Amino acid sequence: METNLSSYLSANRDRFEREMVDLLRIPSISTESQYAESVAECADKIAADLRAVGIDEVEVVATAGNPIVVAQRIVDPAAPTLLIYGHYDVQPVDPVELWDSPPFEPTERNGRLYARGAIDDKGQVHMHIKALEARLATDAGLPVNVKLVIEGEEEVGSPNLALFLAANAERLACDAVVVSDTGMLGKGVPTIATGLRGLAYMEVHVQGPAGDLHSGTFGGGVVNPANALASIIAGLKDQDNRVTIPGFYDRVRDISDADRKNMKQLPYSDEAFMAETGAPELDGEKGYTTLERIGFRPTLDVNGMLSGFTGEGAKTVLPARAMAKISMRLVPDQDPGEIEQLFTDHVMRLAPTGVTVEVRPHHGGWPWAADPSHPVFDAASAALNTAFGREPVYMREGGSIPIIPLFEQTFEAPVLLLGFGLPGSNLHAPNEWIDLETYHLGIETIARFYDAVAERMG
Ligand SMILES: [Zn+2]
Repeated sequence: METNLSSYLSANRDRFEREMVDLLRIPSISTESQYAESVAECADKIAADLRAVGIDEVEVVATAGNPIVVAQRIVDPAAPTLLIYGHYDVQPVDPVELWDSPPFEPTERNGRLYARGAIDDKGQVHMHIKALEARLATDAGLPVNVKLVIEGEEEVGSPNLALFLAANAERLACDAVVVSDTGMLGKGVPTIATGLRGLAYMEVHVQGPAGDLHSGTFGGGVVNPANALASIIAGLKDQDNRVTIPGFYDRVRDISDADRKNMKQLPYSDEAFMAETGAPELDGEKGYTTLERIGFRPTLDVNGMLSGFTGEGAKTVLPARAMAKISMRLVPDQDPGEIEQLFTDHVMRLAPTGVTVEVRPHHGGWPWAADPSHPVFDAASAALNTAFGREPVYMREGGSIPIIPLFEQTFEAPVLLLGFGLPGSNLHAPNEWIDLETYHLGIETIARFYDAVAERMG
């Protein structure tokens, strides 16, 4: 990298941060319709920022929902092409009273910038824009073609993205997809995420008597839906914390020796993980370590329950109905549609007589695992090593990004998850933050990554 580029990055640090603040000020909440104007404003802002750094072809494309910003800079049709995906929409801010500073007035404290969207994902989109600026504003230049798709509906499940990608598959053709929407194992520990869990999300409704009953007059005489739901839930896992749904594990891949070896090298400790949770003990499927349980094993968890009297004091009532929301995190090669069916069948088998049980599926998502032997991973590794001064670690994420498999299928190209969020960044929670030192190292990584890609994939 030309010294010119290094000095450009260090000379412009303060301005980059100020410009990120401008982006974070826009309340681009996609889950609440009263913010639709701000969402549109944010799309225009991203487009303007891209034009300002020298991306010549920029378009804000209307969809049935929120607009998608599409941009590209083709330097040489023979050079490798990267497709960068990110999202400019953010989660709601509730409970807003738990924020130490207003969510849309970005505030710096102890080297962190606090704001909604700081790390998920506007701050990380901003890193890509600034990396492009640094290349285009200096004699470093851009050695690869770059296309960008920045959408505004990630936090509501990307309902219009699949259609858009399919309709624009040729225009967006690429050699690799780069997504910065994940995290690092720790500060100063560059991390490439090599897997994501999928999701099946279910609601179980149990209906008993026509209305709530007196628990003295009727208790012991009819089936209590809350008790019935509790017994159904209890039947979904055994004493070893294994999911009891027949066929649930049939498609789960074994953990390879290479994966086990890699996990041993991760700077991870159960103690630190436990401290982060505040839980009194770690627990999970018997026979697996915490990292294995989160990265390589599926699981099943109750997300919420509703039934009966939950107010102050005692009210002797036998509830008429009970409901639970239950999610399953899936791993390759589990099929979310198949798991939904297996879950439903099993719940029906577990359901006691005397109540009616209904199972409703919500949105699902496919699990994903990368093939890290593709040269784009080596390129990312080299860039991270140069910027952070150490080799990156490869890690499976426990979370889900359902659109990742979609990109892989649409473009028949590898997806690189190059994320810069630190543990405890409070994404989706009050006091979300981005670490500013990591923000600048992220920009440097991306700026160097283009060269590494040109060398290895050109
Ligand atoms: Zn995100």
